[in-house]
Amino acid sequence: ADGPSSEWLDYQGSPRGTDIECEGWRQEAALRMLNNNLDPEVAENPEDLVVYGGTGRAARSWDAYDAILSELRTLDDDETLLVQSGKPVGRFKTHERSPRVLIANSNLVGAWDDWEHFHELESKGLIMYGQMTAGSWAYIGTQGIIQGTFETLAEAARQHFPDREGLEGTITVTAGLGGMGGAQPLAVTMNRGVCIAAEVDEHRIDRRIETDYCMEKTDDIDEAIELAEDAAADGEPLSIALHTNAAEMFEGMLERDFVPDIVTDQTSAHDELEGYYPAGHTVEEADALREADPDRYVEESLDTMQRHVEGLLEMQERGSVAFEYGNNIRGQVEEHRGVENAFDFPGFVPAYIRPLFCRGKGPFRWVALSGDEADIHRTDAAVKELFPDKEQLHRWIDLAQERVSFQGLPSRVCWLGYQSDDGLTERARFALRINELVADGEISAPVVVTRDHLDAGSVASPNRETEAMKDGSDAVADWPILNALLNCAAGADIVSVHDGGGVGIGNSLHTNNHVVLDGSDLAAEKARRVFTTDPGMGVIRHADAGYDEALDEATTSNVHVPMRED
Ligand code: NAD
Repeated sequence: ADGPSSEWLDYQGSPRGTDIECEGWRQEAALRMLNNNLDPEVAENPEDLVVYGGTGRAARSWDAYDAILSELRTLDDDETLLVQSGKPVGRFKTHERSPRVLIANSNLVGAWDDWEHFHELESKGLIMYGQMTAGSWAYIGTQGIIQGTFETLAEAARQHFPDREGLEGTITVTAGLGGMGGAQPLAVTMNRGVCIAAEVDEHRIDRRIETDYCMEKTDDIDEAIELAEDAAADGEPLSIALHTNAAEMFEGMLERDFVPDIVTDQTSAHDELEGYYPAGHTVEEADALREADPDRYVEESLDTMQRHVEGLLEMQERGSVAFEYGNNIRGQVEEHRGVENAFDFPGFVPAYIRPLFCRGKGPFRWVALSGDEADIHRTDAAVKELFPDKEQLHRWIDLAQERVSFQGLPSRVCWLGYQSDDGLTERARFALRINELVADGEISAPVVVTRDHLDAGSVASPNRETEAMKDGSDAVADWPILNALLNCAAGADIVSVHDGGGVGIGNSLHTNNHVVLDGSDLAAEKARRVFTTDPGMGVIRHADAGYDEALDEATTSNVHVPMRED
């Protein structure tokens, strides 16, 4: 079928409530999460099955989407459905304790693992780009990344502006207001700072303003700078979307001798053909050029990216704190334009996130399958009750309730760590409590706990999550594969392995899991195992690389590390 499926048109988002279409809640959860990914309120371009992150898709085609739904509706409690790059390809009798759905997206054999081969196979209908949470049905809209962006910027503020209240009085300049990047202006203002974000596509700007992620918009760079400087001088939070190309914005700022405190970027630079926009064209002109002459588009796109990175490097030279925000823009211009000093500014993981990963701490998310906001508010209260001393966590939950609008099924994101207490990790304690609340009827329907692929022990991505590892093991991809196998062994309900998320095909391998908390003893058993082994992978991966924090966590939380050296 060419156009959107009639099933999708009927759903318009996930089914809600307590009546289910499938044989059990685990299958129903998969069906609802897939439809939630494609909710017009959640996805960036659902008519084309595109969820976020350039062309990250939830299913390979509309026919494949229909087929996944019909398989899920008849899948038994002891069967497993196999999805290969967004298309259902098999179904076997397994076991009640095994995953209900196994997903592999975008994976290619090493020597073929690049965009060129990928596009060739994609044009033959053989493969799909799954990004991270798009193809694993765990995307929850911009609210999914907001806490990660908030924590990253809070850590940047602690490191670089220790005398300030968060980012108060500082100006952060970035670009890209897409599915993930759209979280940046809100994360800056939640940290009390001022943000200017360049975006070429006015529709994206309007979407962020309508959902309260961004406050103002202008297409005048002088106005943007003036507004930002005034707000920063008054210590007032403010976010401004600047309707322009990022490379041109940085050049304009340099000409005006305007040097922000922090510079970064979240355009989809990982994909020079379908993610990044070349300068000198409107969005419509650029889209037409891509259709008519893709080779020229790619050349112009990479030329603009070079100017963009040179702008970031010059800002760093003049005193800005610069970091890459996980879109491989440095790798792109080093490889395709020979910019030798592109890696002079660090990636955000080694700069701000790795110490958390060493302790098995990472972002996870939960989704109320009922669709009832009250269920998420009950989980918010549960997090606070379970972790009464975590001030930053309480601040986050309060801010999220006040400032983050729900998109699609009500959901929440939070960073909890390993820190085993009485043999239970923080994530396991949380999940077990939610399972109890579902069993007691305090939460009206099952809750899915899932996570980003960006987590402590689930990714190999040398230009991002595993950049500059202490032992040089950046490109070793055994770790995510072991992580996915372990998630199956522990009984997660959906497990996926993808290639190319965040940084583009061939540059990363990563995994995801879902556990459905339906209040049953089986769910408790799965939750206890998965939320111990999965964050535990973060501890052992970083202990193996020789990080002291990880070795310390292994000791204090009793994580067995064979052959440990310290
Ligand atoms: P998206 O494709 O939804 O949005 C990208 C936006 O950038 C679009 O709105 C596009 O119009 C805009 N854009 C492209 N080129 C531009 C240019 N030259 N100037 C100004 N605007 C331009 O992507 P997304 O989901 O927001 O992700 C953005 C990037 O961040 C991707 O590379 C993604 O892989 C990466 N990412 C980062 C994290 C993280 O934790 N930091 C997580 C996921 C993804």
